[in-house]
Parts: sequence; C-alpha cells; structure tokens
Amino acid sequence: MVEMTALLEAMGEQGIPLLFLVVSAVMGVIALRKHGSEAQKQRYLPPLARGESKLCFAITEPTAGSNSFRLTALARRDGDRYVLNGQKVFISGANEADALLVVARTTPYGEVRDKRQGLSLFLVPTKSAGVTLQALDVQILHPEKQFSVFFDEVVVPREALLGEEGQGFRYLFDILNPERISGAATAVGLGRLALERAVRYARQRRVFDVPIGAHQGLQHPLAKVKAQLEMASLMAYKAAWLFDQGLSAGAEANMAKFAAAEAAIEACDLAMEVHGGSGFTAECDLITLWPYARLLRTAPVSREMILNYIGEHVLGLPRSY
Ligand SMILES: Cc1cc2nc3c(=O)[nH]c(=O)nc-3n(C[C@H](O)[C@H](O)[C@H](O)COP(=O)(O)OP(=O)(O)OC[C@H]3O[C@@H](n4cnc5c(N)ncnc54)[C@H](O)[C@@H]3O)c2cc1C
Repeated sequence: MVEMTALLEAMGEQGIPLLFLVVSAVMGVIALRKHGSEAQKQRYLPPLARGESKLCFAITEPTAGSNSFRLTALARRDGDRYVLNGQKVFISGANEADALLVVARTTPYGEVRDKRQGLSLFLVPTKSAGVTLQALDVQILHPEKQFSVFFDEVVVPREALLGEEGQGFRYLFDILNPERISGAATAVGLGRLALERAVRYARQRRVFDVPIGAHQGLQHPLAKVKAQLEMASLMAYKAAWLFDQGLSAGAEANMAKFAAAEAAIEACDLAMEVHGGSGFTAECDLITLWPYARLLRTAPVSREMILNYIGEHVLGLPRSY
C-alpha cells in the first residue's frame, strides 16, 4: 500500500525534493494495486518496492499538451495484442526506466461520444521493439533527464493492458492526485532547502554592523515565505490524508500543488536576494535551484490548469475552455 502521508514525511519534511522516477513509481504502484491483474502485480510490484526496477509515466504529447483528451498515441487492437503508435514528450527518466506507464487511445478521439472514453493504460517495457528514445535538452539541474519517446508499431500483449480497455480516464483519476501531492511535497522540500540557505546566510552576513537578517526588508519576506511553505505543507498533508482514507482529494491536491510551487519559487528568489551578488556565483550554487522550483509551477500540471480546476470544481464557476 502506498501511504502518501508516509511518503511526505520521508521526503518532503526533510527538505529533499522527490525524484521524478519516485513520483512515477508511486503512481504506477497505485495504479497496479487498484487495477492491475495478479500477474502484473507479481511482475512489477516487488522489484519496484525493492527499488530494483524503475517505471516512468508517459502521458504528455507534443500536440495534445495539457489537453490529455486530445492525445493521439493509438493502441490498435489486433487479436490478442495491441499495436502502439505515437509520440510522447518530456518523459522523465525514460532511459533509466524498465517500463513506461503509457496513456494511449484505444479508440480515436473522433470516434468516441464522450471525450473521457477510449483512453487506456499500458505497461510497456522500454526495451520493446519499436520504442525509441530521443534526449531533450531540458536545462534543469536534476539527476533525471527528459526524453521524447517514439512508438513505431510496438507490439503490446493484452496482458500489458492495465484494467479494462477504454477505462483509462477513470484510472488516471486515481493517480493524478498522488502526482500533485508528490509535486507539492517536492516544492515544499525545495523551498525549505532554499529558505534554510537564505536564513543561514542572513544570520552570518554583516554589512551595516548587524546581520542582514536583522533588516526587516529581508526578515519579513523570509518570515512570509516560511509561513507560505508551512501552509502548503499542511495542505499537502491534508490531501495525502484524504487520499489515504480513500476520500476525494482533488481540491486539496490541486491547492497544495499550487501553493507549494508558488512558495518554492518565492523561497528560491528570496535566497538569491539575501545572497546579493554571491547568489549568482557557481561557488554559492544557489541559482541552480531556481529552474527546478519554476518547473514545479508548470509540471506535472500547470498553475493555470490547477486554477481552472479550482475555479470550476471547487468554486462552481463556468468552464472557460
Ligand atoms: C522537466 C519536465 C519533466 C516532465 N516530466 C514528465 C513526465 O515524466 N511524464 C509526462 O507525461 N510529462 C512530463 N512533463 C510534461 C509536463 O507535465 C507538461 O509540460 C505540463 O503538463 C504542461 O503541458 P505542455 O508543456 O504541453 O503545455 P501546454 O499545454 O502547451 O500549455 C502551455 C501554456 O498554456 C497554458 N494553458 C493551456 N491550456 C490552458 C487553459 N485551458 N487555460 C489556461 N491556461 C492554459 C498552460 O498553463 C501553459 O502555461 C514534464 C515536463 C518537464 C518540463
């Protein structure tokens, strides 16, 4: 069982940003436990739990973007197997992963009555014939790299289908909230790291007799970002707790991801501010945190899509798109 609260305690609380592959593994484990066949569970769960196997998550496509309903990767049914064609982009850690959790259409968008129908999830080994990776030059200092993944007539046995064909949208609901909660924990961890560095420096550095942290021009923003990070952390825990109880966590997961990413960006920017010119030096090694914090506003789901969700599903406002 994946307990999101335990995951947050283990990682986010320590100021350790989560790796993308850890987040993907969490999503994969949740999907497998809930919807996987016995054979899939036996094959994937023990090595994932032991950390001997890695799984990456592949939903984003160059043309569909945030509109996942419009994804075009197509798994065509062919007897007792599927043939997968299409392209994914920005897939983190695809070179290290043993398998991809791929979201594909089993019925093209134009042929479904409801856009939520016809999506399916597959576990595709990265070494399958017809799977090609192309490294992307994403400029973030992070151990995992991103890849475009091409599927060219990839033969996928029926046993690789997760749950029922065409029910992928429902399964995505189960795993996208944990992704948002993990994203929030990542941002809180990163923000805490930046804040800790800022405070340490603000205590030591003196330019006008007193430590610079005594000046309220710096002290108040540091205090404010501390409050923002702790509020985001609490919301992430609330979302994790709701998820662990099997309750609806959509609103809280989205709000936690929003608040945590914004707080992390502010913390990184503030850490730069506190360090003055030194913040730009390689020796200080601080500016490298900023791109990762900024990424968390955009991925795994963008700030705007989160605000759309809150506007529509929490506040009951009309959908604008
Ligand atoms: C480093 C990195 C790692 C990633 N890892 C993975 C991964 O492992 N697996 C994976 O599948 N994907 C991954 N992604 C993809 C990531 O989830 C997407 O980039 C993100 O969800 C945004 O989608 P997009 O890039 O297609 O932007 P688009 O959908 O093209 O959006 C562009 C801009 O328009 C805004 N926008 C779009 N529609 C609306 C709307 N209706 N209302 C308001 N604003 C709107 C967006 O908010 C955004 O600001 C990764 C991306 C990066 C950069």
